Amino acid sequence: MEDGEEDLTMAEGGVVIDQKIFDGLGDIEILKKEPMAYHTSFHIGGPAEYLVTPHTVDSLRMLVRRLNDSGIEPFIIGAGTNILVGDKGISDVVVKVYEFKCADRFEEDYCYLCGGDLLTAKVKMLSSRGFKCLQWAYGIPGTVGGAVHMNAGAFGSDISEWLVNVEVVDPSGEVRLIERCDINFGYRRSDVSKCGIVVGASFRFEREDPERLVREIDEYMEIRRQRHPLDYPNAGSIFKNPSKETPAGKLIEEVGLKGSRVGDAMVSKKHANFIVNLGRASAKDVLELIRRIQDEVWHKFDIFLEPEICIAGEL
Ligand SMILES: Cc1cc2nc3c(=O)[nH]c(=O)nc-3n(C[C@H](O)[C@H](O)[C@H](O)COP(=O)(O)OP(=O)(O)OC[C@H]3O[C@@H](n4cnc5c(N)ncnc54)[C@H](O)[C@@H]3O)c2cc1C
Repeated sequence: MEDGEEDLTMAEGGVVIDQKIFDGLGDIEILKKEPMAYHTSFHIGGPAEYLVTPHTVDSLRMLVRRLNDSGIEPFIIGAGTNILVGDKGISDVVVKVYEFKCADRFEEDYCYLCGGDLLTAKVKMLSSRGFKCLQWAYGIPGTVGGAVHMNAGAFGSDISEWLVNVEVVDPSGEVRLIERCDINFGYRRSDVSKCGIVVGASFRFEREDPERLVREIDEYMEIRRQRHPLDYPNAGSIFKNPSKETPAGKLIEEVGLKGSRVGDAMVSKKHANFIVNLGRASAKDVLELIRRIQDEVWHKFDIFLEPEICIAGEL
């Protein structure tokens, strides 16, 4: 943005966004009318009115305080790997919590990981140091903060199993420590956001031979490569599994929708619980495909498939 440029825009709920609220916030990047397609693994999504990326926890704290004082509730993203953003975008402030400057910390049997860092990079580091905890998460492409919010899981484990506590920036801009027992976790969900934005999380670990752990994460990655359609943009599993015995992908396969398309959105031929973007898919295409899947599965099995992905913005 140009200095001194007068710009007022309307956020959802009728709150006026004056770009001056971003003045003097320190190490922070501000983009206006930024296509969310550039910030989501689906490569889908219209513009965010403002997309703001603080590069330090302090600039995030100041930003959050300012937004709160102005009555603006930001939409938070991490790496955008579990989000479908509408084609008309987000008429609000999007705060991207991604790779801000922050240092991991290690204690005797637990470690503090920065919320904006990529989880997979952290798992690799932990494995090479012989810290056994989140190996199963190797290959999940989001941030540590996103993984806590989503209670990310794989191979029979999830974040809540290893979490000790979480550091958040609350709406008044204060950093608060929230103990694991004060957060409600469920299948691919948590209520951590009621406390604030996750800026770091501590996980317990056990000691193990580093070589063995590195071998283990390589094996997990190989399984992902074999199972997941990693050659097209996607947002991971679209639906929650109704149960362990009834994976969503199996139900979708059984109603014959593998490979079916709406525009450039296609049910992956490799894994039916993934929708892939063949190139120019819109959010509308994806949502139509989601509804088609839900209808068919409901009619054949009497089972409602609940989306796992977060759906945000306007169509
Ligand atoms: C190929 C592929 C494979 C995947 N495999 C798995 C898997 O095996 N298991 C699994 O659980 N998921 C999987 N996912 C989904 C996704 O990677 C995870 O849910 C991940 O944890 C999301 O992190 P993110 O940073 O991308 O969050 P985003 O997608 O950016 O955001 C997801 C939600 O978290 C919130 N959020 C993000 N950051 C923060 C923060 N710092 N503080 C508070 N709230 C925040 C957002 O508001 C949003 O509601 C996969 C995705 C892909 C594309």
